[in-house]
Amino acid sequence: MTFDSLTRDQVQAFHDEQLDAYRTLQKAGLKLDLTRGKPSPEQLDLSTELLSLPGDDYKDSKGTDTRNYGGLNGLPELREIFAEIMQVPVDQVVAGDNASLAMMHDTVVFSLLRGTPDSPRPWVDEDEVTFICPVPGYDRHFALTERYGIRMVPVEMHDDGPDMAAVRELAADPSVRGIWLVPTYGNPSGAVVSEAVAAELAALETAAPDFRILWDNAYAVHHLTEERTKTADIVGLCAASGNPNRAIVFASTSKITFAGSGVCFLGSSAENIEWYLGNLGKRTIGPDKVNQLSHARYLGDVEGVHRLMNKHREILAPKFEAVLTILRERLGPHDVATWSEPKGGYFVSLDVVDGTASRVVELCGEAGIAMTPAGASFPYGQDPRNRNIRIAPSFPSLDELTTAMDGLATCVLLAAAEQHLAPE
Ligand code: PLP
Repeated sequence: MTFDSLTRDQVQAFHDEQLDAYRTLQKAGLKLDLTRGKPSPEQLDLSTELLSLPGDDYKDSKGTDTRNYGGLNGLPELREIFAEIMQVPVDQVVAGDNASLAMMHDTVVFSLLRGTPDSPRPWVDEDEVTFICPVPGYDRHFALTERYGIRMVPVEMHDDGPDMAAVRELAADPSVRGIWLVPTYGNPSGAVVSEAVAAELAALETAAPDFRILWDNAYAVHHLTEERTKTADIVGLCAASGNPNRAIVFASTSKITFAGSGVCFLGSSAENIEWYLGNLGKRTIGPDKVNQLSHARYLGDVEGVHRLMNKHREILAPKFEAVLTILRERLGPHDVATWSEPKGGYFVSLDVVDGTASRVVELCGEAGIAMTPAGASFPYGQDPRNRNIRIAPSFPSLDELTTAMDGLATCVLLAAAEQHLAPE
C-alpha cells in the first residue's frame, strides 16, 4: 500500500490509527535512547580482564618500563597487531591514547597551522580550505572541520563509496584539500568503499598538491556476519599511484575493548609519520604505555582481536536483526521509507519521506524516545531532503530496542500521513 494509491479518506483513517497508537505510546512514559553508537555494558563486560592487566609485570617485550615517559610512537607489540589490521608497515603506525578522533583533530590542526609535508604553506594561509564530505557521514568529522573554518561540500555516499564523478569534479578546485571517509561499514550508511573506488581515489588528479584522504577505519573488524569484509589497502594504493602521502588511516579499540579507555592508531607513509610525530612531540612526551601493554597482552594477536569481535557480534547481531525486522514489518508495506542493511558497524541509516525526518525525531522525543537530531549526518547539520535518521542499536537492551523501534515506526508512519494530508 502506498499513500498515492489511497483516497484522502483512507489516508485520513490511516493517520487516525497511527495517532491513536502514538497517544498510547506517549502514555507509556518511555525513556529510551537510540542516539549514540556506544557499546552496551554487556559488551564492555567482555573485556573486564583488561582491568587487572598488566599487573606487576609492567615491562614490554624489549624491557621498557611502560610506567615511565617516552615511546612517542607507542608500544611495538601493540602496533604490530594493528599494523596488520590497518595494512600499514609497523614502523608506519603510531599508537596513541584513547581516541582516534583526537588524532584526526590533531592531523587537521597540524595541517592548518604548519602545513603537511606536501603543502606550499600552512592551510590557514590559503584563501580557503575545502573538504569533501560524503553523506550521510559521521557527525563528529563534520563538527571538527566546521570548527576550524574548513568549508565542507557534501557528495553522495553510494554503496561502494563516494560519488566519484562529483569527487573528480571537486578535486579540480585547488582549495579542496581533503576528503573524510569511513571505508568499512560507514557511519551511518554501513557502506564499504570498494577496491576500485579506493584505487580511483588514490590515483585521483587533484589541483591541490597536498590533498589528503582521512580514512577513518573505525569499524575495520566490526563484522555483523561471518563475512570478514576486507578494507582496501589505501596507503599501498596511494604509494603505487605516486601519491605516497595522500592517505592517513585511523583506527581504535574504542568498540573492541573500552570506548573510553582504549587505544587509538594512525598509519600512513613514512614521511607523514615523521611529520605527525614531529608535531605530536610538542604536545606530549609519550602515550599511556601501561594501557597499551594491557591491550597487547589482552588481545595477543590479530586472531585474538577477531575472537573478541565474534563475541561482540553475538551480542550485536540480534539487535540489528530486531531493528531490521521491525522496519520490514512496520514500514515495508507502506512504501514510506528505505534503510540500510549493514554487514557491520554500529548503525542503521533510515530514509523516511522527504521533508519529514525532523518531524519524526520531534514525535519520538515527545514520546520519550531520544533520536539523533535530523540532519546530524550532514555538514552543518543540514540534510537538504530532511529525510535521514540514524539509528544506533548497540546500547539499549533488546527489549528496550524493540519498544523504541516500534515507537519510531509509528512516528515515521504518522509523520508521513500528516505530510500527505497537509495542504499544499
Ligand atoms: N570514527 C567513527 C566513524 C565513529 O563512528 C566513531 C565513534 O562513534 C569514532 C571515530 C570515534 O572513535 P574514537 O573513540 O577512537 O575517538
